[in-house]
Amino acid sequence: MGLRQRIVSEIYDEKDSKVIDRQVIKDKEIKKPEKIDDIGYNHEEQISLLQSIQDMFLNEQRNFLVPDKCTVCGSSKISKSGAVPSDFHAVYTDHKLRIPRVMCCNKNCSVGNINISIYSLFGSNMHPDLVKKRVNHFLCVSSKIYAPTNLV
Ligand SMILES: [Zn+2]
Repeated sequence: MGLRQRIVSEIYDEKDSKVIDRQVIKDKEIKKPEKIDDIGYNHEEQISLLQSIQDMFLNEQRNFLVPDKCTVCGSSKISKSGAVPSDFHAVYTDHKLRIPRVMCCNKNCSVGNINISIYSLFGSNMHPDLVKKRVNHFLCVSSKIYAPTNLV
């Protein structure tokens, strides 16, 4: 008898539970550990799980970032035209989203392509939890460097 653990991501419509996307994130054998390193998931596997889960979530969420009207003239005559890569940094993982580029089709509007990025929408491409973690790390390090005992 071989035991395995399968971790699956399902993106589904909450109205009818129709599955839109289903992907196996990890399929790992459960076996007798021979050494301490064999127990559970190691650090690389844990980060890889977070990376995959977040990538699949962001792949769907990016579609909500695309405007349904021209951001300059307000016309709803827009069309998608390729995609623009946009960085996003979470606490443990970094991601590159391909956000659809929008083109305004109003002949009286001169905007042309509208490039959306995480930064252009939110003024940052770092999740607030990452910012908080970095600030706390900086404060911890600087308090050790600039502590009164180090100035003597
Ligand atoms: Zn426009």
